[in-house]
Amino acid sequence: MSTTASAAEAAKRELGSGFAGELIGPDDAAYGEASPVFNAMIDRHPALIARPTSPEDVAKVVNFARDHGLPLAIRGGGHNGAGLGTVDDGVVIDLSLLKDIQVDPDARTVRVGGGCVWGEVDAATGEHGLATPSGIISTTGVGGLTLGGGLGHLTRKCGLAIDNLLEAEVVLASGEQVTANADENPDLYWALRGGGGNFGVVTSFLFRLHEVGTVIAGPTFWEVEQGGEILAAYRDFILDAPRELNGFFAYGSVPPGDPFPEELHLRKFSGIVWCYIGDEAGAAAAMAPLLDATPEPLLHGVQPMPHAALQGAFDGVYPKGDQWYWRADFVKEIPDEAVELHAKWGEAMPTWKSTMHLYPIDGAAHDLSSSDTAWSYRDANWGAVFAGVDPEPANVEAIGEWSRGYQEALHPYSAGGAYVNMMMDEGQDRVRAAYRDNYDRLARVKGTYDPGNLFRVNQNIEPSK
Ligand SMILES: Cc1cc2nc3c(=O)[nH]c(=O)nc-3n(C[C@H](O)[C@H](O)[C@H](O)COP(=O)(O)OP(=O)(O)OC[C@H]3O[C@@H](n4cnc5c(N)ncnc54)[C@H](O)[C@@H]3O)c2cc1C
Repeated sequence: MSTTASAAEAAKRELGSGFAGELIGPDDAAYGEASPVFNAMIDRHPALIARPTSPEDVAKVVNFARDHGLPLAIRGGGHNGAGLGTVDDGVVIDLSLLKDIQVDPDARTVRVGGGCVWGEVDAATGEHGLATPSGIISTTGVGGLTLGGGLGHLTRKCGLAIDNLLEAEVVLASGEQVTANADENPDLYWALRGGGGNFGVVTSFLFRLHEVGTVIAGPTFWEVEQGGEILAAYRDFILDAPRELNGFFAYGSVPPGDPFPEELHLRKFSGIVWCYIGDEAGAAAAMAPLLDATPEPLLHGVQPMPHAALQGAFDGVYPKGDQWYWRADFVKEIPDEAVELHAKWGEAMPTWKSTMHLYPIDGAAHDLSSSDTAWSYRDANWGAVFAGVDPEPANVEAIGEWSRGYQEALHPYSAGGAYVNMMMDEGQDRVRAAYRDNYDRLARVKGTYDPGNLFRVNQNIEPSK
């Protein structure tokens, strides 16, 4: 097939009436809205965007892309910073029409279509006072976030998203539809929990639910110049705090709108974003050792709120269409020299949306070992992300320089590898470093389920024979 338009025409001809979803090519009016992903820095032009409505539809598109030798990308929520939900001159399987959500409050499970975003899931489970761990933004896709691991507000108490994944329905590179759980295809089930989109298209996920209704949550902000002192206190506090308390350390800027007081708008801060599962008295007691050991904050905005509201709290700050350049690393310890470097780079954020987060990954995330799932860094205590963000294309260089410079400065104090969901296109060595001893086993599973590496628009695991 020589032109991008001809791939869409061929798909319409060959899949035609047997395909219940949408097929969108570059000449279709819907292409302009359907093509862009969340990160506006990613400018790719697929030859075909297919929106299946069932696993059978998905299998047809997989077969079409494979048989025509076309590059194939899978799009869940489209949030991936490296733009792994799209591909130039190839086929995008956009799962956004696979939105079915079934909550079973008695069994404490939720079955979720492969194209859901987290806000949809949180709203449905929240009606029953239940939740499963995800991230910190409601617009992120269930698919990408889960398959890469899933770090968020509930990590310390309930584990990673993958630690609550009971089963997945998967369309393989062969077009075959299979179930992966502890009993059926256990090697695939192991690999899906951290191995990203390498093994097939997940058309539905089954998650365990936890009793999480109202949480006591919100930020505490201090002056950005106090960041070193706050980070040192946070480091000494969080790993011994009760699991019910999650709190990630952040450098950022106060958003210019409600509910923040006007005098703080756009002011750089150092801070902690909390989420406590329990009552207000328990939250106050759990946070007290940190708050007693630190100066009076600029703002302590902790209050009861539905878990789903917390998940949506940053959505307005980070809409689709900003430029994103981010780097990441896992961290075991934060020595004083690293605290000093954080203070230097944190204060130098180039734009108000740029931010650095240290997500705790201890507590329940440490209940599994490094080889229990594909997600290797069970011995790390934090996931650090250095995110340069801005709506202005003119600032792309500035945000990239800051993120790269910050990560490179702190890398000597890291555990070596990074969280795959917060990496850019950084080369095969970084992918190996993300999986460490699990890489070879992942390569063998890849060799079983996708020997031709059809699913390679991802942090790619090369198949071994
Ligand atoms: C604003 C923002 C906030 C974020 N916050 C968090 C956070 O709190 N915690 C966290 O852990 N991560 C977070 N992330 C990172 C996020 O986990 C990754 O960007 C992830 O890749 C997004 O998933 P997606 O489905 O939206 O991505 P997409 O771009 O749609 O897909 C990314 C990759 O996932 C794979 N994929 C997606 N869906 C499927 C599927 N159903 N079957 C097979 N493969 C699939 C594809 O291979 C693709 O390569 C955040 C990202 C952004 C932009």
